Amino acid sequence: MKKPFPIIGLEIHVELKTKSKMFCQCSADYFGKPPNSQVCPVCLGMPGALPVPNKTAIEWTIKIAKALNCNVKETSKFDRKHYFYPDLPKGYQISQYDEPIGENGYVEITHDGSKHKKFRIRRVHIEEDTGKLIHAGQESLMDFNRSSVPLVEIVTEADFHNSEDVKRFLEELQSIVRYLDVANAEMEKGDMRLEPNISVHFLEEGESWDGKTFPKYKVEVKNINSFRYAKAAIDYELERQTELLEKGETPIQETRGYNENKQITVSQRTKEDAADYRYFPEPDIPTMRFETEFLKKLESELPELPGKKTDRYIKDFNLRYQDAFILTRNKSTTEIYEEAVAKLGKEKAPKIANLIINKKISLDGTKADILKKIEEQFIEKKTDTALLSKVVEEVCTAHEKAVTEYKGGKEQSLMFLLGQVMRGMKGQANANEVKNALIEYLQK
Ligand code: ZN
Ligand code: MN
Repeated sequence: MKKPFPIIGLEIHVELKTKSKMFCQCSADYFGKPPNSQVCPVCLGMPGALPVPNKTAIEWTIKIAKALNCNVKETSKFDRKHYFYPDLPKGYQISQYDEPIGENGYVEITHDGSKHKKFRIRRVHIEEDTGKLIHAGQESLMDFNRSSVPLVEIVTEADFHNSEDVKRFLEELQSIVRYLDVANAEMEKGDMRLEPNISVHFLEEGESWDGKTFPKYKVEVKNINSFRYAKAAIDYELERQTELLEKGETPIQETRGYNENKQITVSQRTKEDAADYRYFPEPDIPTMRFETEFLKKLESELPELPGKKTDRYIKDFNLRYQDAFILTRNKSTTEIYEEAVAKLGKEKAPKIANLIINKKISLDGTKADILKKIEEQFIEKKTDTALLSKVVEEVCTAHEKAVTEYKGGKEQSLMFLLGQVMRGMKGQANANEVKNALIEYLQK
């Protein structure tokens, strides 16, 4: 019996949250703005308008590349990628072809606490986003507000063999770029977009994949706008292709779109080859040269990333994997957590984690407010000693049977009496003090 083996590679686009666009001074914050209100001759592709690269966008791309363990060379250049579609005013996109900013990286994903899976990154490059087409009835309208917004493209090797790993990878990538504070990366808003390319290879019983035999076709899927749909779209596509292959047919090499309402993929167009884009060096922007000091400085600015933090929390704070993972998804949560642990002591780390994860304290308000709320949970309760002796006497008088049993050697009766006293104190007492007072009274 042959069995299907999925082979999946990813292409991910992440929009940077820089103030201005990639090659002009227009605002890059286009979300919800009136159509064509943030445009200029450069991002409208007017003849003669010249692009000037955004330095911050380049620095942030280098940071992403470094965070994904890529090799960043001293030189990098821009190229023109040609295709004809109305959302691209110049008739080409300024992108990077043979000298991307980063190459040969990897992302490690922790699975169940101890196991790590490594997914290789082929390249990380910077380019410009396109405009947006809006279809309204018989008309198609163009909005160029998004045209030339900085876009980072991340391409992985075909290292994924199930949809669950893809989802975990995307979540990790989202955390990483958010930790770097360079992108919002919200799939629902379209500022993080996934295009998986998917194919299925059949293996003989007991055979494992050699890592280099690829099927003769692959299918790219677009229009995926949530982590959940990413998994669903991939699962649907794997099933569709497997069925065709089992009938002896070869799926067509094409681009398909995910329809989230029908939960299916539909054919959009047959895939172009790289040659169709007629790449050539962008003549209006000189080759970039990065000095070693400049690259070192950017690298030194990288924060401890979520994967490393998860591992450290498990080791240093004695947390379970699942707890460490949840805590480290959001950088601001880790800041609160680490500060609380530093203040209250490492031995309280698991308990503080529990307070945050199980929402026993609210994370609303300023950092100082939240830290105060955490500290309050650890303040020893003051015991009213006069009230305590009164309650102890009352309880022991009321439960003579339990007192006799305890004196006769039944330890459990002490726990019963302790509970009664705690109840009488309405919880406003330290359990150890209550126990001592009770024993003292019973020994009289
Ligand atoms: Zn502009
Ligand atoms: Mn691209």
